[in-house]
Amino acid sequence: VKDEEARPCRSVYVHVPFCAGFCDYCAFYSEIARPDWVERYVSALLRELDAVSKYIIPQTLFFGGGTPTLLELKHWEKILDAFHTCGRPPAWEWTVEGNPATLTHEKAHLLKAAGINRFSLGIQSLDDDLLARLGRAHSRQQALDSYDLLRTTGFDNLNVDLMFAIPTQSLAAWRHTLNSALDLQSEHLSCYEVTYEEDTPLYAQLQANRFSVDDDLVCDMYDLLLDHSQQAGLLQYEVSNFARNTTPQTGEFPSCACQHNINYWRGGDYIGLGPSASSYRNGVRSRNWANLDRYCQCLEHDQSPAEDTEQLGPRARAGELAAFGLRLQAGWPFALFQTITGFDLRHDWAPEIDSLLKLGYAEVTPERLRLTRAGLRYADWVAEQFLRPESPPA
Ligand code: SF4
Repeated sequence: VKDEEARPCRSVYVHVPFCAGFCDYCAFYSEIARPDWVERYVSALLRELDAVSKYIIPQTLFFGGGTPTLLELKHWEKILDAFHTCGRPPAWEWTVEGNPATLTHEKAHLLKAAGINRFSLGIQSLDDDLLARLGRAHSRQQALDSYDLLRTTGFDNLNVDLMFAIPTQSLAAWRHTLNSALDLQSEHLSCYEVTYEEDTPLYAQLQANRFSVDDDLVCDMYDLLLDHSQQAGLLQYEVSNFARNTTPQTGEFPSCACQHNINYWRGGDYIGLGPSASSYRNGVRSRNWANLDRYCQCLEHDQSPAEDTEQLGPRARAGELAAFGLRLQAGWPFALFQTITGFDLRHDWAPEIDSLLKLGYAEVTPERLRLTRAGLRYADWVAEQFLRPESPPA
């Protein structure tokens, strides 16, 4: 992309590729945090930030992983300093993901003082046996203590991450974790069904018939999630995401919805920094090497750390965006979809929309298409219906 063609990008993601151990379900790229690797990563990340800083005016900044809270204070000081001195105003939503086993009083205070105003805590479960089943490094008590620490440090916009349909988890056990988590009164809740990614221990156990998946139980757990989160004042705004209104809702989303993720679902540009991070800018998608050594080598030699880039055609991109945006409870306003993609959702996807209406999975108003509660339950299947090959089949 030539400099003169580049618009400033308003969403930045930073991947911190280190974990204390590996969870049994996880397919994200991460490494065990050896001190020399962490130092090398931080230097490479600062080089990458320097190279893109002229293209970014971040309104949302998200540090994910891996386990960002595994970084030591001295690393955080360097990284935060670099973001503060890259000549840009502070992001209005600045999130750090953390794992209860690695959050300390000092780190929480440093992050708060540096302007991080949203914290996402990976609790996953409040049942010690199920945490062990997932291979998580923390206990129920550590999760509750970390949440208290964040509150006493002054964070007033907290997300709690939970998982359901964990192997051997009963409906009663899920109800207990969910209700305990809702009692915390976080501003945001992200809840994901366990998925089985190839090359993970959990996938191998499923293949070896060490447990089975009960689809009816999974549906009951999801229904429980929808009902109890609503009763607790958390409004569903995406298939797996719920947020509170702490100020009067002015737009389509609750006031504490994650703006960084809404930008993905609504097709905005973003820049990803760090190994394995993806970017989408000016119609080009790229992905950095999911290999720490390779990533660092590139930046140490003033080369791009991108492993591959891809220019999606307008039709394929529109299909992809239709699929992403329908995950939102607000669905797609027809006018907005046309402005962003140049395609008319009502016209270009008419047969698919008709089928969804017949199944009771969607509703259409004069302004928008949105999925119903039943449709959101099958959002992954719905998404596949909207994807388009670049050229129509001959
Ligand atoms: S802490 Fe997060 S990134 Fe690391 S292995 Fe577990 S789920 Fe994956």
